[in-house]
Amino acid sequence: QWTGLNELREKYLSFFESKGHLRLPSFPLIPKDDNSLLLINSGMAPMKKYFTGEVTPPRKRVTTCQKCIRTPDIERVGITARHGTYFEMLGNFSFGDYFKREVTAWAWEFITKVLEMPEDKLWVTIYQDDDEAFDIWTKEVGVDPTKIVRLGKEDNFWEHGSGPCGPCSEIHFDRGPEYGCGKPDCKPGCDCDRYMEFWNLVFTQFDNDGHNNYTPLAHPNIDTGMGLERLACVMQGVDNLFLVDTVQNIMKRISRIAGIAYGESEKTDISLRVITDHIRSTTFMISDGVMPSNEGRGYVLRRLLRRAARHGRLLGINHPFLSEVVDTVIAENEVAYPELREKSAMIKKVISFEEESFYKTIDKGFALLNNIIDRTDTKILSGEDAFKLSDTFGFPIDLTKEILSEKGMEVDEDKFRALVLKQRETTRARRKNAGADAWAGDSDVLEGLAKTEFVGYTKLTETAKIT
Ligand code: ATP
Ligand code: MG
Ligand code: MG
Ligand code: MG
Repeated sequence: QWTGLNELREKYLSFFESKGHLRLPSFPLIPKDDNSLLLINSGMAPMKKYFTGEVTPPRKRVTTCQKCIRTPDIERVGITARHGTYFEMLGNFSFGDYFKREVTAWAWEFITKVLEMPEDKLWVTIYQDDDEAFDIWTKEVGVDPTKIVRLGKEDNFWEHGSGPCGPCSEIHFDRGPEYGCGKPDCKPGCDCDRYMEFWNLVFTQFDNDGHNNYTPLAHPNIDTGMGLERLACVMQGVDNLFLVDTVQNIMKRISRIAGIAYGESEKTDISLRVITDHIRSTTFMISDGVMPSNEGRGYVLRRLLRRAARHGRLLGINHPFLSEVVDTVIAENEVAYPELREKSAMIKKVISFEEESFYKTIDKGFALLNNIIDRTDTKILSGEDAFKLSDTFGFPIDLTKEILSEKGMEVDEDKFRALVLKQRETTRARRKNAGADAWAGDSDVLEGLAKTEFVGYTKLTETAKIT
């Protein structure tokens, strides 16, 4: 039952078309008329206005495959089997139309009948108080009650402040004990990679008045999200997302450039996976109009590119190489995203420019940083040094922090920030950045960015303007 990623996408979308859904193309990664979110991070995010009723959807049933960026997962990328900063999310949506019964039955039909997943490997989690979901799964869909796990609010209740909210139910695939953490209480919901969560069904059935008084909605909604790469990982029986057919081809290209085969060592494998992920996310971000800068989305892009360049260095690649890998990203994705080919020259130009400007200073920056790490007897890098690394050598503060944390060191961030602010006062007033995210769980990174967005490597920015 090996199925390619592109074929899985098509199977999903046409299955939901056969259930009366309108297929819409992916929305761009930059949210439209919504400054609560930096980058689209789920299938439902660009459809909020359909859910609130502010905008009438083209049909009450919609299905999409949405490009997503989740920067809060950045530290997990390459480490876990299942996280990327970029991935595609398959989704089917009901705007006050069908509800729990239909969506659970269709989800099960799709994975067990269309994809023929073995039922004995499947597990379902539900919200602890959602007896209705338990009854539907066991009595109507026919799932073995011993394969249903009840979890608390944190895992299985979708809610962001006040407004529409509701319980979720997630489907997991048991990849076997060899992928597990070995803890006796390891079960679906555990953070290890044994039970791979791949599909989240959200039953938006309540309104929270802001004081945790829940009233049932007259027209409840359905929103589901299934990671396409995770689904492909399960269907292809591979170890992790980066070995999925189309993704693997990108990693192979990097592997050839580095002259290091995948599987040589865990350390080099992590770098190969990180670069593979970051080149995918940055290619799609630039294609959707994000440009490198020192704040907001542009900072996310810059940080991803520089992080990828650094991992290239760790693999012994001593020349700019990322723009070359873009060709493979485009070749592997153009079936679904033909605009990548049209924008190919622009994407490569942006990446080369950014990479080359970083390369001009990268060695000196690393030399400085390594020198400090070797010399200092404290575990703290001074704010002045962090500022110099950022301002003169183009090291995003998060990159500096990451390198230091590998050596058990930290940065005097208060001092660093004070220096950045001081520099800012003498330059232009900073454009107001996107606010905190109200709906979709990106708030962690926004908090992180609120502290770090105003990194002042002005010198590079001046030369990095692309015309
Ligand atoms: P996890 O617990 O594994 O981090 P999640 O609960 O954060 O996943 P959801 O917010 O429920 O994920 O998103 C719906 C689906 O999107 C997930 O079930 C998964 O298939 C996919 N997904 C989520 N985050 C990622 C990611 N970083 N990389 C790839 N796929 C993802
Ligand atoms: Mg997550
Ligand atoms: Mg989860
Ligand atoms: Mg989930």
